[in-house]
Amino acid sequence: MLYQRVMVFAAHPDDEILMAGTIAKMADEGTRVVVLQMTDGCEGYPEVWMKDKIAAMRAAEADAANRVLGIAKRYRLDRPDMALVNDKATLLEVMEIIRRERPEAAFVQGTQTLHRDHLASTAIAVEALWHAGGPVSAALGPSWKTPEIYVYQDMATAVKPFAVNVKGYGHKFFEALATQTSQFTLFRQYMGIGSAEEFAREIERLKREGGRDVEYFWILREVMDFEALPPASEHRLPQWAP
Ligand SMILES: [Zn+2]
Repeated sequence: MLYQRVMVFAAHPDDEILMAGTIAKMADEGTRVVVLQMTDGCEGYPEVWMKDKIAAMRAAEADAANRVLGIAKRYRLDRPDMALVNDKATLLEVMEIIRRERPEAAFVQGTQTLHRDHLASTAIAVEALWHAGGPVSAALGPSWKTPEIYVYQDMATAVKPFAVNVKGYGHKFFEALATQTSQFTLFRQYMGIGSAEEFAREIERLKREGGRDVEYFWILREVMDFEALPPASEHRLPQWAP
């Protein structure tokens, strides 16, 4: 087992699915994988009739994704979608969860995006990971320095990502997306797949033929060169590269 405990920071209910293969693989190896989801995803409704139901729908879909990927626990801050802010209350709440979970590796979203919640989620996560390791806010629990921090989503192309081998888990991405039925309109727009039947066919094909067996990450220190971040040399995840 590479890690005992890891944390994945996500703005929305389905963001962590981008690293579905890695999550499922780590969970199978016995790693406790925890997701910290910051908003309720209440703006993710493609049709007006869904407006008042969407947060509840997505909460149920996130529970289903937990089961598919082996996520041990999902913390939900339930901030409103498109209104995530790096305020003091949110920062302290995230620091407390980090100190409680004591992750050996953390995964954050990245900064090369227009989505305000993804930008905020990255800022909150990185700052909270740093503060959680310092001699501050002792009422939140003993300090915990997370030794490895990765980016799993949007990064500038100037920094090369590295590949992680998720052979045998390539279908997990689609298996997890298939649980997010309220998002099928979005998935069709981005991937051309947007029905339960199409997802089932793709999952079967990947199980049979393999494929989609690599996921990409950046080491945060190589992207944000802050002294307080863990040095790049101490990261273990690249050893999985094929
Ligand atoms: Zn998102």
